[in-house]
Amino acid sequence: MFVFTFLISLLYPNQTIQAKHDSFLQNMVFPIKHVMAHFYDDWGEIRGNGNRVHEGIDIRAPKGAPVVAIADGKVNTISYSDSSGYYIAIDHENGWLSLYVHLNDDIEGNDNRGGKETAFAENIYLGAEVVAGQIIGYLGDSGNAEGTVPHVHFEVRYMGKSFDVYQHIKDSWFRFNQFIRFPKKIGLNLF
Ligand SMILES: [Zn+2]
Repeated sequence: MFVFTFLISLLYPNQTIQAKHDSFLQNMVFPIKHVMAHFYDDWGEIRGNGNRVHEGIDIRAPKGAPVVAIADGKVNTISYSDSSGYYIAIDHENGWLSLYVHLNDDIEGNDNRGGKETAFAENIYLGAEVVAGQIIGYLGDSGNAEGTVPHVHFEVRYMGKSFDVYQHIKDSWFRFNQFIRFPKKIGLNLF
């Protein structure tokens, strides 16, 4: 956390801007709208036979669980690649970008026969404006996640560079759970 704050302060010495970045991270909505979602701090794990570092957090949940935008923004990328499968990037227009990878490509009883319609929410297209908590797609195992426990590879980048936001994801998960259990008492409206 210290290193992270330090890097941001190098990039943005102005304190007001610093506060804006803190506020963005501290208010992020948990990216999976499912109470059975689970994850651990797998940021920086060595993957692919020691060939690459994992720059993100994998969030597991039942296949088809809604994936939501962590904050307001604009759809920057909506695409497919062999490794990432179906994925979406949202530009939060403050230097931050969030990435949601391995969206669902399965239909019931027919593995990998889904497509854009199983991966992305209906009104999501390049340039679409989204709000925090809006459903953008559905969790799955497309790309090189085929055969793994269905999950979203979730990543947050600042000016193109991935950041370890594990603590913020954890905090957003805590707020999501409070909302699910005590919506009236807590008075949060995350969705
Ligand atoms: Zn991952």
